[in-house]
Amino acid sequence: MIRTLICVDRDGTLINDTKDHLYLGKENDWKTRVRFLPHVIEGIKAINNIPDSSLYMLTNQSGVAISDFPLLTEGRAHEVCKYVIKKIEEMGGRIDGYILCPHVNRAYVERHKQYQFDERFVCDCNCIKPAPGMVLDALKSAGGIPGKTAVFIIGDRVSDIKAALNMGGTGILIPFANQPGEDEKTRELPQQTRIHIAQDLLNAAEFIERALRLAKQ
Ligand SMILES: [Mg+2]
Ligand SMILES: [Zn+2]
Repeated sequence: MIRTLICVDRDGTLINDTKDHLYLGKENDWKTRVRFLPHVIEGIKAINNIPDSSLYMLTNQSGVAISDFPLLTEGRAHEVCKYVIKKIEEMGGRIDGYILCPHVNRAYVERHKQYQFDERFVCDCNCIKPAPGMVLDALKSAGGIPGKTAVFIIGDRVSDIKAALNMGGTGILIPFANQPGEDEKTRELPQQTRIHIAQDLLNAAEFIERALRLAKQ
């Protein structure tokens, strides 16, 4: 049984994203657009050293639901995730698994009037962050137990932090330059004792190590 589950967001946390989403995979040359953010590999290696822990990548891939991106199929979105994980492995890090949500909800459709959506992927699923579905799936797949396994979620959006709080876990925001304003939104949430704002993934890993050490005492 694992004692700690650490979940990390993909776009804007591990790799580069743009203000209105890069929707990585929508072009055929997507591999050339994969860029790791500073200190990501060091952060992953530090997390890998935490005893009895698993590290999962959780990603909302709303681009799958957008008909304007015919190349970004659900299969392509999985291909991108596997490629990112393979690159991390080549650099000496380890991601134990990943969970992908290919859906958008009605609110997302309303906010993005510039796109056409594939109705098959429009739903109010339980996996779009801040819903806890992907975290629960990761917990199950990693062999953790809800309520017994400590959960940390790292991401660049307030939705990542809310997903952590919804799971009774700890949320770590790494503000991302292309997505400003998320730190202010995060500071307005209740339960600030379960929220941390970190500079980069290495800093987030050090926070988790410290939090686990303090919990043991
Ligand atoms: Mg993100
Ligand atoms: Zn979903």
